[in-house]
Amino acid sequence: MPAEDDKHWLEQPVIALKGIGEKLQERFARRKLFTLNDLLFHLPVRYLDKTRIQPIAGVRIDDSALVRGELLSCKTHYARRPVMTCQISDGSAMLTLRFFHFNKSQTQALARALEEGKWLSCFGEVKRGRQGLEMTHPEYRIIAEDQIIQMQEHLTPVYPTTEGLSQTVLRNAIAQVIQQLKQQQKNNSQREIITDFLSEAIRRELALPLLSQCLLYLHEPPPECSVFELTEGDDPWRQRLVLEELLAHQLSMKQIYQQQTQHKASAFRINSDHLFNHKLSQIGQNSPGSIQNSLSAQFLQQLPFKLTQAQQRVIQDIAEDMCQPYPMQRLVQGDVGSGKTVVAALSALFAIENRCQVALMAPTELLAGQHYDNFRQWFTELDINISFLSGKSTARERREALEVIDDGTAQMVIGTHALFQDEVNFNNLGLVIIDEQHRFGVHQRLSLLAKGKKEIQQSIYPHQLIMTATPIPRTLAMTAYADLDCSVIDELPPGRTPVDTVVIGQQRRDEVLARVHHACLNGRQAYWVCTLIEESEVLQCQAAEQSYKLLREQLPDLAIGLVHGRMKAAEKQAVITEFKEGQLALLVATTVIEVGVDVPNASLMIIENAERLGLSQLHQLRGRVGRGSQASACVLLYGQPLSKNGKARLMTLRETSDGFEVARKDLELRGPGEILGTRQTGLAEMKIADVIRDQHLIPKVNDIALHLLRDYPEAVTPIINRWIGHSVEYQNV
Ligand code: ADP
Ligand code: MG
Repeated sequence: MPAEDDKHWLEQPVIALKGIGEKLQERFARRKLFTLNDLLFHLPVRYLDKTRIQPIAGVRIDDSALVRGELLSCKTHYARRPVMTCQISDGSAMLTLRFFHFNKSQTQALARALEEGKWLSCFGEVKRGRQGLEMTHPEYRIIAEDQIIQMQEHLTPVYPTTEGLSQTVLRNAIAQVIQQLKQQQKNNSQREIITDFLSEAIRRELALPLLSQCLLYLHEPPPECSVFELTEGDDPWRQRLVLEELLAHQLSMKQIYQQQTQHKASAFRINSDHLFNHKLSQIGQNSPGSIQNSLSAQFLQQLPFKLTQAQQRVIQDIAEDMCQPYPMQRLVQGDVGSGKTVVAALSALFAIENRCQVALMAPTELLAGQHYDNFRQWFTELDINISFLSGKSTARERREALEVIDDGTAQMVIGTHALFQDEVNFNNLGLVIIDEQHRFGVHQRLSLLAKGKKEIQQSIYPHQLIMTATPIPRTLAMTAYADLDCSVIDELPPGRTPVDTVVIGQQRRDEVLARVHHACLNGRQAYWVCTLIEESEVLQCQAAEQSYKLLREQLPDLAIGLVHGRMKAAEKQAVITEFKEGQLALLVATTVIEVGVDVPNASLMIIENAERLGLSQLHQLRGRVGRGSQASACVLLYGQPLSKNGKARLMTLRETSDGFEVARKDLELRGPGEILGTRQTGLAEMKIADVIRDQHLIPKVNDIALHLLRDYPEAVTPIINRWIGHSVEYQNV
């Protein structure tokens, strides 16, 4: 056990340090650095190596290095701004130094100081320039040829800072804490003085080094360790901290999960076993009464296809969850086209059979509209009352919807964010389904949950089902979705033919046009998708309108339609319906069709300026074709210049149609912050862990998290506080 006063010194406010007054304290606070402990766990993002002089020929491009050399030449150019370039050599290689942003007199002073034949030591980042190696604005000192340079004793840490908090101030403050740590160690004869919240068993099993050792090592790495190893490699000191940080995140998410399971929900009675264990034809004929009347059995019977094994498995998971007296929190991941809608429909029926209302929320008007059409078709035969509510509903539609939601006549409500609004009062909400979750933030999700609670007195929460078409690798899901149970639909319905994807330059648009023409004349249907970099919907729609006009001129004998985000919901829906019914051969669209549009006969998709879109988005779009049994194709038209990253995206799509593989590549190209978006910003803001680089630790972390929650619950909050501290807003839900 650490002595009480050890705790005491780490919990002192930063103002206790030398050189830190109230003003600085405030700036530290902005970076969420309140105590010495916070400083101790504020870890470097990278390091500078000023512990040794490197031969110029030996430096790595893009690394910072300390070098020395003789000035061979200095030239000043007076262009728009004065620029000075010098060349130095240490005998191994030459290095160009570049200085600018000076006014004339400063440049002249520099020129007087830097005379040929003098010796310099320089520290800076080495780049490859036109004339070989270069440093721009290095830190430099003039030295004597044989001067021994005072070197740093350890690698210099570079900390994350914020405005008003300089690297020097931060380094200085943290150095003081490290000094105190060393002192404490000495006074306490080397015994561990930082509380380790991990259990003895875990520490022994994983042979973890002492926490204080790890912290000292990372703040003041010894000169012999390489910067690369420290930031990319897997030395045990860093790994130990990475492990604990990942653990802190995992624990905080699992805490949210546990808190949810403390809530009450209606425990449904569901006969899902009978659904799949009997031949469907027998249900409704020979099986006992309750099944005979079961809506879900009827629904399955009227479906024109059999569910895939994967769909059945996921439905079983869901059914099991909804039989519990606490709310389901399940995420269903399934590639585009894997048949998530049917899974949603069956789940809805389970709730409706149990006399509860269902809310299904979609991220766009268009998708909500599609679902509404779909579910109406499916459910009307079952005598189920469905209502629709979106931001674009008219005042009257709205009033009517609110009424039937409130009095419980509407058994199911489909809509957009509008379902969140305060005036919406559910009568008996038992299940919330959120489709294509990557477009909703965690807060919206939670507020809909809270809504269920508000509506139903006695604090009964609705069950919750989230569906996403952006699958992520399993280990990442363990971290990012640690507050949810996950199911994966890892199988596509049978009979799908893979989409043949080709990548073609914009200059060959005419050929593509001919191909579209030919295909449409032969009874096929095609999408022509227009893209734009700007988020502006107005510009996107203008671009689509222009393409539409052009295509109508170029292909006058085809029936062409247009759909974009600024059309009225009903107009959009009407066009999609015409396309669905085959009255239109070609549909020109913006990326509004990215999710949910389901027209199996469409088998060709052209995406103009495909290089402008992200991988996941392209994969989603492409998922609109390849839904029928005929061979489908997707043409990715790109404009020049094509960036390296843009090319990598297009090539990935050409090579794979597997959503998980696409997601993996997307993560590699864009990083987790972009992909997981607002939902889990915490993941992208970790101090030392990197969910991609450190994925291999995640299964272990998961085990430890479960172990702690079960056997050492008292360790959970301290670990979360140490790493995430006061910044976890999502903890309090
Ligand atoms: P997504 O997972 O992208 O939401 P959808 O639910 O829209 O996919 O399903 C895509 C298409 O596949 C729809 O036309 C749907 O009717 C069809 N489908 C779903 N499940 C099956 C199945 N088991 N067998 C055949 N077709 C199916
Ligand atoms: Mg879908």
